[in-house]
Amino acid sequence: MQSVRPQISRESDSDDMSYTLGIDIGSTTSKAVLLKDGSHIEASALVVAGTGTDGPALVMEAIRAQSGIGREEIDFCMATGYGRLTLKAADAEMSELSCHGRGIAAMFPEVRTIIDIGGQDAKVIRLGDRGQMMNFVMNDKCAAGTGRFLDVMAGILHLDISDLEKQAALAKKPVKISSTCTVFAESEVISQLAAGEEIPDVVAGICSSVASRTAALVKRIGVKDQVFMSGGVAKNGGVRLALERELGCAIAFSPFSQMMGAYGAALAAWQKIN
Ligand code: ADP
Repeated sequence: MQSVRPQISRESDSDDMSYTLGIDIGSTTSKAVLLKDGSHIEASALVVAGTGTDGPALVMEAIRAQSGIGREEIDFCMATGYGRLTLKAADAEMSELSCHGRGIAAMFPEVRTIIDIGGQDAKVIRLGDRGQMMNFVMNDKCAAGTGRFLDVMAGILHLDISDLEKQAALAKKPVKISSTCTVFAESEVISQLAAGEEIPDVVAGICSSVASRTAALVKRIGVKDQVFMSGGVAKNGGVRLALERELGCAIAFSPFSQMMGAYGAALAAWQKIN
């Protein structure tokens, strides 16, 4: 499967256009997608500030700045994500599971298994032949196996989260992280650095640790082709490749992977008014 960027429509607007907004308020980021007439992505934005911050307001401002469309011109606003119940501007809310499923089924209809790793949880969703959600499993109890684990480790290593992929690719002899808890793994990584392990080897070990936890989750539901990764951790090639090795299958992703929940919410908003 190819990585596809959705088409962004830039035609001049007229009064009979209908706009729907999907807004995904996560633990670490706020994402929004503005759809015109339920199909064209008119604008999309991501702000690294999640629930309980001004992230939701900022992401709506970013949508207005890109498209010239503000809340008053939006016919339906659907909120999703961890902070979805807090958004006063929303007309309704919907679970992230439903929104990721909807968004991915619409953009990549061949996908049957979704692996969504966000800032504080990981979910695996099985889709049916018509894109309907058949089953899911999730880990929302433990930070290990989520973006939070990667964020904490990047902090210890004084690396930007976006540098983990490059570092993991340079590994010669990846270390093994045996602790199953983020707090203990933090001490383990500090000990490994003190013992002289190379940073790329430590990063590869960190990515593999997240991958093996995720693989255990995926195996509870089973792998069915095509497998697609959504959520912010899909941007981390170190985790993606380690997960492909663990599962023995190709994992597709898109530059839009982190926006899938917001996209699905915007599609659901369109369905509400049609
Ligand atoms: P949430 O919806 O819970 O806020 P996201 O799906 O937005 O979560 O994912 C956030 C996670 O994505 C972060 O914890 C981080 O680990 C990861 N992430 C975000 N941006 C990048 C990037 N550029 N490269 C690698 N990982 C990233």
